[in-house]
Amino acid sequence: MPSAYKIVDHVYDAVVVGAGGSGLRAAMGIAESGLKTACITKVFPTRSHTVAAQGGIAASLGNMGPDHWTWHMYDTVKGSDWLGDQDAIEYLCREAPAAVYELEHAGVPFSRTDEGKIYQRPFGGMMQNMGEGPPAQRTCAAADRTGHAMLHALYQQSLKYDTDFYIEYFALDLIMEGGECKGVIALCMEDGSIHRFRSHATVLATGGYGRCYFSATSAHTCTGDGNAMVLRAGLPLQDMEFVQFHPTGIYGAGVLITEGARGEGGYLTNSEGERFMERYAPSAKDLASRDVVSRSMAMEIREGRGVGKEGDHIFLHLDHIDPKVLAERLPGITETGKIFAGVDLTRQPLPVVPTVHYNMGGIPTNYHGEVVTLRGGDPDSVVPGLFAVGEAACVSVHGANRLGSNSLIDLVVFGRATGKRIAATVKPDIAHAPVSKASEDQALGRLDRFRNASGGTTTAALRLDMQKTMQRHCAVFRTTELLNEGKSHMAEVARGLGHVGIKDRSLIWNTDLVETLELDNLMGQALVTIGSAANRTESRGAHMHEDFPERDDANWMKHTVAWLDGGDTVRLDTRPVHDYTLTDDIDYIKPKKRVY
Ligand SMILES: Cc1cc2nc3c(=O)[nH]c(=O)nc-3n(C[C@H](O)[C@H](O)[C@H](O)COP(=O)(O)OP(=O)(O)OC[C@H]3O[C@@H](n4cnc5c(N)ncnc54)[C@H](O)[C@@H]3O)c2cc1C
Repeated sequence: MPSAYKIVDHVYDAVVVGAGGSGLRAAMGIAESGLKTACITKVFPTRSHTVAAQGGIAASLGNMGPDHWTWHMYDTVKGSDWLGDQDAIEYLCREAPAAVYELEHAGVPFSRTDEGKIYQRPFGGMMQNMGEGPPAQRTCAAADRTGHAMLHALYQQSLKYDTDFYIEYFALDLIMEGGECKGVIALCMEDGSIHRFRSHATVLATGGYGRCYFSATSAHTCTGDGNAMVLRAGLPLQDMEFVQFHPTGIYGAGVLITEGARGEGGYLTNSEGERFMERYAPSAKDLASRDVVSRSMAMEIREGRGVGKEGDHIFLHLDHIDPKVLAERLPGITETGKIFAGVDLTRQPLPVVPTVHYNMGGIPTNYHGEVVTLRGGDPDSVVPGLFAVGEAACVSVHGANRLGSNSLIDLVVFGRATGKRIAATVKPDIAHAPVSKASEDQALGRLDRFRNASGGTTTAALRLDMQKTMQRHCAVFRTTELLNEGKSHMAEVARGLGHVGIKDRSLIWNTDLVETLELDNLMGQALVTIGSAANRTESRGAHMHEDFPERDDANWMKHTVAWLDGGDTVRLDTRPVHDYTLTDDIDYIKPKKRVY
């Protein structure tokens, strides 16, 4: 029974859950300010998904041509299809160059130009002159292993400060009391002990939830655990209908081929050998934004011009690029192509297909990283003690569609901002008031229920059912019929959690149990994602609704907020988009049709 679990207590000024790029940057800043800080992570820090980021990190350094932060801001607003909050976007783009130099000084081995400056490549949707063009070379890269370089440098740096790391600890639930966050409860996976972390500031940096879908570029650990904890705390998630599909996941394996491949001159062809992007996006072509390229690929496949035996994918060509350039700029994907597609990409095209890549939606925050909710008519009401950063958060700078290389910069800019906010608002060594046992009972009750679950359905089978349902009903193409069918099917799949059974009852490295907790987390997010998607009767960014093909600013220029009211009941409301900037240096960028 729950009361039988051994509980170990810890007291901190601040606790960060997650040790990816955003969690490490936040933890560094908090610890540097002298606050007693813990960082809890279910995988070793340098195994976080940030390690897999390839293409690069956006900042208007202007090393390889003219650039300006206002141009970066224009592109990000346009990329977001005007659903991004412009105060937060201004903050992101203005702070980006300093954040990249900070990484350089922290030891990130960026690729270099001949003069020794940080190398920058073009990326989809990144333009000069307030969207007018030509393309801007804005994406700073360490070959095609930028995330790897960044995560290792950040981990090394964070060891310099006095952060206590709790590695391979699985956070279960937030400790909430009277609408405030008071810490978090976690399971030590190695010995099964339960740990109660009290903190005045708790930062969720738990990453995305790509694993709701069957084909995803993200790691198997990307199960959105922080998002799910927020739902269980009775707080909403925002804009969950916006799921980014990357145009170039390797067919079958889902492994990512960076957009940098097209940045270096790669292009897509259909079964007729045609460079079809010239038809869909005459000026940006293969470097149009991701939603546009993914949709164009899906269109070609649907109209019978896909390649392969089943005509269900597309070719990516890099075979015309000088092998020396490939070896220097894209060594990782040359290897990936060989291993996962059996293709020598200096000579053959790669089979690719749009694959789930990024979650624009997540935990709503302001640009200080403070979690917000709708309360008493205030759409920006701060939840005391709770923060979110990185892919788990919805600040919202990416709105309906994120531009490539804008996530890594989001991690460090808002990781830093959150650290600064916490340093400014939390005083060291303040005593913690006692809390009731309600949160603890909820967390341990849930753990105990799954640990002793003895139904006939395996976790793997139920997870596959969920992933296939989401892939079929809530992917690149969406219709009212598909979404509504999917909604009821998902509710049925979610009820399957009541019939799940696990075999291992121990608490020592019980992967069966942890995967079931992760599945439970994914299930709630799948429900709010498809519920939010079925509700939005327009097309915007990554949400392309065939029955409502136009963007509808009059009715839909607003954020969706979604609660999970127990079981499978999704409750929806909206928050206004911030249609103002942070300073007078730039005016609100007015909506226009988004063409590339
Ligand atoms: C293959 C790939 C390539 C990409 N390339 C680029 C790119 O080139 N440029 C770009 O800008 N973006 C890129 N992205 C997106 C970007 O990398 C991610 O959005 C970003 O790295 C997410 O960082 P994060 O800090 O939010 O979370 P993550 O790096 O995913 O880390 C999550 C952390 O939370 C911890 N955690 C999660 N749940 C729990 C729990 N229950 N208890 C304890 N700890 C928990 C994990 O242990 C981990 O440390 C790419 C993404 C993928 C998948």
